[in-house]
Amino acid sequence: MRLILLGPPGAGKGTQADRLVEAFGITHLSTGKMLRDAAAEGTPEGLKAHEFMARGELVPDDMAVAIVAHRIEHPDCRNGFILDGFPRTVAQAEALERIMKEQGQGIDAVIEIKVDERMLLQRVETRVKEMTARGETLRADDNAESLSKRLIAYRAQTMPLSTYYATKGLLYAIDGMGSIDDVWAAITAVLPVPVPGKFGRRTRK
Ligand code: AMP
Repeated sequence: MRLILLGPPGAGKGTQADRLVEAFGITHLSTGKMLRDAAAEGTPEGLKAHEFMARGELVPDDMAVAIVAHRIEHPDCRNGFILDGFPRTVAQAEALERIMKEQGQGIDAVIEIKVDERMLLQRVETRVKEMTARGETLRADDNAESLSKRLIAYRAQTMPLSTYYATKGLLYAIDGMGSIDDVWAAITAVLPVPVPGKFGRRTRK
């Protein structure tokens, strides 16, 4: 199973990705996390990425595509993966399609988590509180100023992907306004969770 999760910052992509990983036995590929890890390691690419990320801007397409192209060749992606935060532009989506074609593969489904923008700041504030409580390092871009820039980038550069994937018949739009369990129920209604060792599928709520 090869999935893409689309949705604005704070929509809950990471939370639902964790559940998809467990349910389908696939690997979670978050480009945001990969870029933050590279920045923390202090590699030249990572430091360059950090400048874009801290400003709430997208990193250049070639950088995001290179990181994903390299990562999906890893053996842990053989059983499938979930792309969280990639693609974020039509150019990235086209590059992904070329890479997958070369591997004789394709994307099975694109899940778009739709959330009212007025909720997003609140959700990012909740994430900051939870990370602080766990003693984790806060993200440089989890603040109101960066969030509004990330939303501008989302609207201008990422939202066209809904039409891109709808045209290909791959898009499933999910209402992301409910609880974590409600959103999960909506996702598993379109992507039933396989029951290991049994023929057929069932939806796990
Ligand atoms: P995320 O963790 O998905 O919210 O991503 C955090 C930040 O990483 C974004 O605001 C961008 O600066 C950068 N980023 C993550 N994925 C991509 C991508 N596919 N293309 C460009 N920039 C990205």
